[in-house]
Order: sequence, then C-alpha cells, then structure tokens
Amino acid sequence: MGLFGAILAAATLLVVMVAVRSQNGALDVGVVPTPASQDAPSIVLVSLDTLRADRLGALGNTRGLTPNLDAFANEAVVYERAWAVANITSMSHASLFTSQYASEVGPVGQAFRLSGDAPTLAGVLGVYGYETAAFTGAGHLSRAFGLQRGFKTFEAEGSPLGSLWHAIPKALTWLDDRQSNAPFLLFVHGYDVHAPYLKPSPFGMALAQPGFRGAASEAVHVPAGTDRVYGDVYFRQDTMNGFLHERARSRIWDHDARLAVQEETYRRRGESVAFHEEDARFVRDVYDGATAYADALFGELLQGLKSRGLLDRTVVVVLSDHGETLWENGRFGHGDSLDDRELHVPLLVRVPGLAHRRVSADVTLLDVMPTLLELSGATAPAGVRGVSLVPSLMGQRPPAQEKLFAEGCTRMISLRSPEARLSFSGVGADSPFLESLLSTAAIDGPAFEVDTTTDDSTIREPLRQELLGWRKNLSAGQREQTPADPAAVEALRRHGYWGTP
Ligand SMILES: [Zn+2]
Repeated sequence: MGLFGAILAAATLLVVMVAVRSQNGALDVGVVPTPASQDAPSIVLVSLDTLRADRLGALGNTRGLTPNLDAFANEAVVYERAWAVANITSMSHASLFTSQYASEVGPVGQAFRLSGDAPTLAGVLGVYGYETAAFTGAGHLSRAFGLQRGFKTFEAEGSPLGSLWHAIPKALTWLDDRQSNAPFLLFVHGYDVHAPYLKPSPFGMALAQPGFRGAASEAVHVPAGTDRVYGDVYFRQDTMNGFLHERARSRIWDHDARLAVQEETYRRRGESVAFHEEDARFVRDVYDGATAYADALFGELLQGLKSRGLLDRTVVVVLSDHGETLWENGRFGHGDSLDDRELHVPLLVRVPGLAHRRVSADVTLLDVMPTLLELSGATAPAGVRGVSLVPSLMGQRPPAQEKLFAEGCTRMISLRSPEARLSFSGVGADSPFLESLLSTAAIDGPAFEVDTTTDDSTIREPLRQELLGWRKNLSAGQREQTPADPAAVEALRRHGYWGTP
C-alpha cells in the first residue's frame, strides 16, 4: 500500500469514527478524537524566516544560493505561487498555526500575541496522540507572543533573533530522546535570512564585492541597521529607528514623509550618510549570503533526518513566514508593505511516496494546517480559513483561490486578484473603525494603493467591495487586546521593531 496509501486509509478511518460535527461540517473543539493510527505520518515543519521565494533555484533564481533546498524540491511538491497572509513573524506564524487571519486571533501589530482559544495545528495533533515539539529562534517565536500554544515541548533560543544553528541540534536531540513510537510534529525555525543579514563566514560576504566600503558595510551587521536606510540616506544613530518607522508606516514615498526625512537629515547631519545603488547591491549580496547560510543549515537538518531513517515516513514542509523588501521602494525589511516581495514565500511539501511536481495555482500559508491535518487523519477544527492542499499534492488541480487577502503589522490590509492588488491603509485590521473607513474613504485617495498592469479606474471599486466583504466575514469574537510581555517587547525594540519609545 505504501506510506501514502496508509495515510489515506488512516485518514478515512478517523473521519468515519469522528461523528460529532458542527453545522459547517468541521470538527467541534472538545470532541474526543480517535488516537492517531500507527500509520499516521510524522511531520517536520521548517520555517526559514524572511526568505524570499525568488532566492530559490527551484523557483527560478540562477545564483546557486540554495543547493540543499533545490535538491529537496526535486523530491517535493513545489508551490510556485505561495503567499503569506501577514508580513511579520508573529502574525504570519499565528496564521500558519491556526489557519485563521492574525486579526482573528490577536491584536494586530508588532505586539501581536496569540489570544483567545483558536485551536492550533500542534494542539489538534496533540489531541490525536502526536508528540509535539518546537525549536525556534526566539524573538516573535518566544513564549511572550503565545505561539507555543499546543506544543508540548517549546524551546526558543538565541534571543531575540536566533539561528537554525541553535534550533537544529536541539531538534535532533529531541528526536533521539523520544521514548515512544507515536507520530510527531516537529517545528524548526531560524532567523538566518533575517536582518542583520551578515552571517558567519564563508557565507556572509561570499557573494558581496570584496573590500566594499560604504554605508552598507555598516548597515548589514548592525542590529536593525538596514531598517535605518530610507531612500538615499542611511542613518547611523539607533535613535533614528523610531522616526523612520513612524514615517514609513504606510506610505513610504509619501510627500510629507520625504520632506520630513530631508529635514531630519539636515538636522542630524553627521549622523547620516548617502546611500547609493552600489550600497543597495552590497546589501542584497549579503542577504543572498544569508540565504546560502540558511540553505546550508537546512541541509544539516535534512541529513539529520535522513541518517535517522525518518525521511521514509515523515512529511517535511519547508516555508518562510514572509519575504523581504530589498530597496525596491527605498527601504529594507518587512512589515511596511503587502506587495509580492513581502508576501511571496517558498512552500515545498515532501510526502513519502508522492512524486515531485510543480503547482502554479495560488495557495496561502493558511492552507498548511488543513493539509497536514488531512495527511495525519485528523479533522480540521471549525473556523479554519485555509483549504487542504492534499488534492494538489496528488496532482489534482487545487480549488481556485482568486481572491487572496493579507494583513500588515502596520495599519494595512490588502486583496490580490488575478488582475490587481489593492491595499488599504490607515487603520489596523483589528480596528473597530476599519469597516466604516474602508467603505467611505475616497477610492482614488491616499488610503488606497493599486498595483496593476491595466487601467485601474474600473477595478478599484469592485476590489474595495471584495475587501469589505472579506472583513465583514472575519470573526471578531476572539480578538482580545492582550499585551505582550514587556521584557520581550523591549528586546525586540532594541532590534528596531518599534523604534524609540
Ligand atoms: Zn519572520
């Protein structure tokens, strides 16, 4: 029957046995499920923070940055158009783990914390008898932000921006120390592609111009250094973070913002230096070095799984939580935009027994949880927003998802359709005023931004209505303004997450 046949048999058996369902057909929380079958697959879920999709050879990059990911992709199903639904770590992982939008499960923003009682991937699998463990690079994936919910073991190290270098040995030791034969969910995460981009030799500078000296050579290794680049200026002083973040929140090239930067640059002359195209190229090259570093570490993890004989019975999923803007709009980083650079992410799914294929349809990270639950024979809880990708893993065309929504950590939401992307900024996705502002703001005013290759005058209004309809359909019941732990917030603040108090 093979592993995949066994997985489907286990899934069918469990679905038949779980009889209590809510009105929409999904499993009610609280139903006692059947323990996982011996044949249920284990799962390794790898999150390579901040990795842009276009850096993978498997997704078209020609620079040879990702030999391990590319070799893995040759044995996996490659989703060419996978999208994050949020642009910062905490919110995106919350959507990954709950298959709900972040604004449904916590307060939107840098201080997001998973709140309410939405079931998580780890929590549901735990109920089905899975052993669950997470080893993360801390930061937004530390306990302060609530994303440990459902994991029996949760260790965050390297605060605030730890590496797979920290996480992988712990994950492998956890595998070696397991006493039972129960299937497991193992989540491994690292900030290896996240700023500061400069990573250890030989990867860090390997692709950058030798001997380069300029503003960028400082920016790539100072915490949050690249966040201090604003157009053609690099601000040396850490205190500039707050100012820049304030200005860059929703309209990076807004006229007033540009003017304010010019004034501030003049006022702080001596603390700022010119930033040129060659600086930007140098930063991008160092980012690519970080990508190669993350790839090498991923190769270590894969080798660890292989040498333990786990690859024949383990589903391995590799993804990133969001991408990164690399000066395309005069900025570096993520969290300020909902365009392709920040939302297009790698998504590779390797299921033993299933052939490599490429899927060109749009999918989102919301789909990962229902996919893994179906593969495990678990029933998805009510409220799940994503759809299972199991049909597309098997070569069937996935259901069309023509309208893709996303939320920014700043005051921004967006809708992507085949023709255009419309973003609305001004208030956060969890604001009680969002619906009234969204429905009344001037459609050709500064609150809306349209990316399209065609005439946008006729598509703006229909897209606004779609965005409004999506918003009204979101559950507001679980939104709860639970503040994150002040110490964790302060640690991230030092790395530029909020700027100055
Ligand atoms: Zn992230």
